[in-house]
Formats: sequence, structure tokens, C-alpha cells
Amino acid sequence: MATAGGSERTATIDVVVVGAGMAGLYALHHFRELGFSTIVFEAGGGVGGTWYWNRYPGARCDVPSLEYSYGFSKELEQEWEWTEVFPPQEELERYFNHVADRFDLRRDIRLNTRVTAATFDEDASTWTVETEAGDVVTSRFLVMATGPLSAPMRPDMPGLDTFKGRVFQTSQWEDGTDVSGMRIGLIGTGSSGVQTTPELAAVAEQLFVFQRTPTYTWPSRNGPLDPEVQAAWKRDCVENRRMQREVFAGVTGSTGAIIVALPGEKAILESTEDDRLAMLEEHGFDASRKWSDTATNPEANELACDLFREMIRRTVHDPDVVEKLSPRGYPIGCKRPVVDTNYFETFNRDNVTLVDLRRGGIERITETGIQTEQGHFDLDVIVFATGFDALTGAVGRIDIRGRDGAALRDAWSSGPRTLLGLQCAGFPNLFTVTGPGSPSVLVNMVVASEQHVEWIGALLAWMREHGLTTVEPTLDAQDAWVEHVNQAAEGTMWTAPSCNSWYLGANIPGKPRVFMPYVAGLPEYIKEADAVAANDYEGFAFS
Ligand code: FAD
Ligand code: NAP
Repeated sequence: MATAGGSERTATIDVVVVGAGMAGLYALHHFRELGFSTIVFEAGGGVGGTWYWNRYPGARCDVPSLEYSYGFSKELEQEWEWTEVFPPQEELERYFNHVADRFDLRRDIRLNTRVTAATFDEDASTWTVETEAGDVVTSRFLVMATGPLSAPMRPDMPGLDTFKGRVFQTSQWEDGTDVSGMRIGLIGTGSSGVQTTPELAAVAEQLFVFQRTPTYTWPSRNGPLDPEVQAAWKRDCVENRRMQREVFAGVTGSTGAIIVALPGEKAILESTEDDRLAMLEEHGFDASRKWSDTATNPEANELACDLFREMIRRTVHDPDVVEKLSPRGYPIGCKRPVVDTNYFETFNRDNVTLVDLRRGGIERITETGIQTEQGHFDLDVIVFATGFDALTGAVGRIDIRGRDGAALRDAWSSGPRTLLGLQCAGFPNLFTVTGPGSPSVLVNMVVASEQHVEWIGALLAWMREHGLTTVEPTLDAQDAWVEHVNQAAEGTMWTAPSCNSWYLGANIPGKPRVFMPYVAGLPEYIKEADAVAANDYEGFAFS
């Protein structure tokens, strides 16, 4: 086997997995258990994917730790102790390293090895995978566990290369970076920007938050994990893991932690003003997400937005800052819900300034800071919290060629096309884990990844049993699935005309506006995927 930096050709192996995040690690373990020789290429210097790269101050998961963890090994589940309700990046990184050691995964993982190209050889029915370091490996199957949020997006801002201070991106934060006592400019107020704002404010001489779109964000109420809750989860782990696949977002809620996206029971349109104010008194920001009708009814949603803005008024002292922070013109539920610790409170600090870019945008970066239409801001550090080329970005950065030399980039140029988010017609034996067209980023991704890896593993074993060499979707089945995915998203807040989210590709200039994940929830998806498998993989063609 070629090692990173080598340039050997190797004998054909069964599976190449790209990515050693949570999906890639489990894929390696599971495929090995099924008897398939497997290797993993990982661009990063360590395992854990998202939790290796996103080391910015405040990085944290917003699914409870007990639920955002593997369910495939009871032993692992019993021995690992979580410390907080919502795990911080360091703890998740430690967990994935523990998994790599515990299941002896490292011997088949090549770190610091970026895959640059993959070409399907129609005569041999194999994939030839090439890496930046010059390795060339052939495999029967190629599994992209490259992650839906792993291709960083940094806007092209004129003058950036002239800046004399330091520049960071939240998803490429380096350990040991000390920004204390500095004048920091933070660009972006999505989940990453919101999480890091209070942390940067605590150490900065001055923090300037450059906001283009105000954010709906809810308090996480994180804290130490109650040992009794942890013990109860472990005791009932078999039942809990079963339940995860039977609930919409793959989160049972049985840990008692407040979960972002669970709707309430009462209709806000049937409430009185007194009902709504009482809800506000009792639940604070959460009052805006306690209703049954806000996900589909724009009028109901706007009432919930009013409650949200009222909470900002009650939290932030300066009325002008309140106005700048108040989201308007797009509904709650259009973008990925954001979860924070003391985000709005941070704008009451003397060393924090909110720069509302709607009142004058960024013109350029200068040697000493950021020039906006509102004036110049002197800075020592610029932090980009500007997100990712989501769902298709990581796969799209690899030159993938299927039948007849066709490029996957071209096949997806008007939006990704898959069957079940797993495979694309014309690209035999190529799989995407939690790819576009599957629930993916809309649900607890550990549960979604385990389900995908197991589904792929079962298919590979079935092909071995039946003496089959290649698999790919039929065009008809793929077209029908794409249509189904589109229809499912219609009429939801996710696709509201006023909505511009990364789910829709709206954060990437020139990316087609297509809603990429499948919104019908995990149980419905699993039912459909299982039915396909039970029906001898109906919709897939074999040779
Ligand atoms: P990743 O963890 O992204 O791993 C993919 C790996 O593939 C990366 O290490 C990358 O380096 C590697 N890779 C990509 N391209 C190549 C290439 N060409 N060659 C070699 N290697 C390559 N999800 C939730 O469910 N709940 C959360 O609370 C949550 N919080 C998040 C917080 C942040 C900051 C981010 C960015 C994402 C969060 N997510 C969350 C989504 C998160 O990405 C998934 O939960 C999960 O980590 C995805 O695992 P993965 O293995 O599929 O992908
Ligand atoms: P994001 O949600 O895409 O946010 C990017 C931010 O950068 C937005 O505020 C965006 O403004 C701004 N921006 C982009 N280009 C800009 C420009 N040219 N000028 C000024 N502002 C610009 O990215 P993210 O915060 O990294 O989060 C991505 C996803 O990762 C999340 O949605 C979530 O799924 C996951 N995540 C989760 C957590 C967690 O709490 N569990 C934490 C971090 C990330 P506009 O809104 O105007 O485009």
C-alpha cells in the first residue's frame, strides 16, 4: 500500500473511503467487519473531520452528547463518559480519536492525504483514485465520506493579501492561536460566528462583528451532564438507539436537553396576545419555537418572529443595536437553527461593536483593517466565519470521472442528482455518505451516517453474494427521487422565496438554487431506503 507522499501503484482493494470524519471512521470499521479490504484517505492531520478542523473558540455541537455519538458498539457506549450536555469540539475530537484506537482503525487511514481525482475504468470496473501526494490506488468501490460541511467558503474580498495582521477562518483555526488583547474583526454571524462571538469578546481588546444578515439563535442552556441522565441513557441504550431511527431528526429528546427543531403543540394563530406574552415570560427566546404551525404557515411564522424580536429588545440595552440585531424579511426555519451561549448579551459589552453591513457593506480589506462604506475599522486580526460550500463542495473539489469520462461536476451543474442521496447515475460503485437527496444535515448526522454506511455495506455484501460487479441508479429511478425530494421541500420555510440559505446553495455565487437535503425526516427516508433494499435494490442497475 502506498503511504502519504508516495507514488506507488497498488493492487486493487475493495473499498477506498475518502474522509476520516465520523462517517469515514465507521465506514472503515463496518466494511472491514464485512470482510472488505478498506483504506481511508484523509486530507487533515488527524481524525474526526468536522471536529478536527473546527477548533475555533466556542466550537460545540448542538445535539446532546449522548445522542451525537455512535450507536454501533454497546461496549463503546458504556465505556465513554461525556462531561457536558452539548459536547465541545475538544471532547468530540478526543472521542473520535478514542474510536480510531479502540477499533484499531489507524493502520488503514492515510492522514495528510488529499484525494484530487477519481476515474472509473469501464473495462476493469474499478476506480483509480489519485492523491495530491501522487499516490494512485485502484479500488472496486469508492465511498465519499467527505462531509457536507467540510469545504470552507472564504469570500473573495479585494485587498485581503495586503492585510498586515493575522487572518483566520473558523473551520481552519490553528491550535495555540492567541488573539487576546487584540482588535478582532469577525465576519459572519451564522452558527460559527454566533458561537465564537462571546468567546472572542471575552479576550479581545475590541471585537467588531461584521453582520450581513441578523440571525435567529436560541440559548443552548448547556451545562455539566447529570451523571444520572448519563447512566439512564446507557442503561436504555438499545431502546434509545432504536428510537433515534424512529424520530424525525434522529434525536430522541430523552436526555432532557432542549432540542432546537422540535415543534410545539399549540398553534400560534389560535393564540391571544396574552398567551404569547405568557409564553415569552416562561420560555424567553424559546417562546418563538414552541408552536405547531410556524414551520408551514408564513403568517404564524411572522408572529413567532415578533416574539423573537421582542426577546432581543428585552436582552440588549442599546435600541439601535437591538434594531440591527433583529432579523426581518426571512422566516424562522429557513436557515439552519443556530444555538448560542450569551450571544445577544455579548452586545452589551463595552468592547463589542456590531457593524451592520446593510448600512454600508465591506469595500475592501486594507493593510490595517476593513474599509466599509461606513468607514474604516482598524484591526489586528480578521476572522472569517463565512461557512461552507455545503453538501456538494467537497465532492465537487475532486475531479471525479464516471462512464465515458463524464465529470460529476457537470452531471451536477444544475444541482445534485442522486438516488437516495447515495449514488449518481453514470458513476458506478461510487457512493456518497449523507449526500444531497438524503436527510443529511437536517438530522442528527451520526444516526444518518451509521444508517448510510450500513445500507451501503449491506448492498456490497449482497453484490458479493450474487456475483455482481457494478451498481448504479437507473436514470428513471434517479429522476423520480430528485422529483420526490423537490416536492417534499415545497411549501416549507426551507424553500420560502425570501429564504437564502446554504441548504439552497445561496451562499455560493453561481451555485444553482436547489434545495439539497431530503426534508421528510429520518424514519420516512429509512422506510424508503429499506424498501428499495428489500426489493432487490429496485431502481439500481447491476452488472
Ligand atoms: P466530516 O466530519 O466533515 O469529515 C469529512 C472529512 O473528509 C474531513 O476530515 C475532510 O478533511 C475529509 N475530506 C474532504 N475532502 C477530502 C479529499 N478530497 N481528500 C481527503 N479527505 C477529504 N451536525 C449535527 O448533527 N449536529 C451538530 O451539532 C453539528 N454541529 C456542527 C458544527 C460545525 C462547526 C460544523 C462545521 C458542522 C456541524 N455539524 C453538526 C455537521 C457535521 O459536519 C456532521 O455532524 C458530521 O461531523 C459529518 O461527519 P462526516 O464524517 O460526514 O464529515
Ligand atoms: P453559515 O451559516 O453559512 O454562516 C456564514 C455567515 O457568513 C453568514 O452570516 C453570512 O451572511 C456571512 N457571510 C458570508 N459571506 C459574507 C460576505 N461576503 N460578507 C459578509 N458576511 C458574509 O456558516 P457557519 O456559521 O460556519 O455554519 C455552517 C453550518 O455548520 C451551520 O449552519 C451548521 O449546520 C454547522 N455548524 C453548527 C454549529 C453548532 O452549533 N452545532 C456550529 C457551527 C457550524 P449571510 O447570512 O448574509 O449569507
